[in-house]
Amino acid sequence: MNLRIDGQITGEIDCKRLYLGCSLVSNCPKCQQEINIILGPPEYYYLSYPKMNKKQLMHFYCSECQEAWDEFFVLKVDLIPIDPLGTKNLSD
Ligand SMILES: [Zn+2]
Repeated sequence: MNLRIDGQITGEIDCKRLYLGCSLVSNCPKCQQEINIILGPPEYYYLSYPKMNKKQLMHFYCSECQEAWDEFFVLKVDLIPIDPLGTKNLSD
């Protein structure tokens, strides 16, 4: 493997909707109902104009008690050289 990454990741994602397939899960602070926001098809939700490596928020709403709250997360983006003959570094 001869590939190296030079410099910091400072760019941006030019994307209106990002479907990741995973879920953002939070319990309602008022009634403890679990709210699961699936970020991918066939669900409606996605990350809107996602930013990489910066704090972002997702609005949550509980239909049981009408509580609304925000949770924060970071979409971590990294660029990692890998060994083309193996899986080394794929799970890091
Ligand atoms: Zn609730």
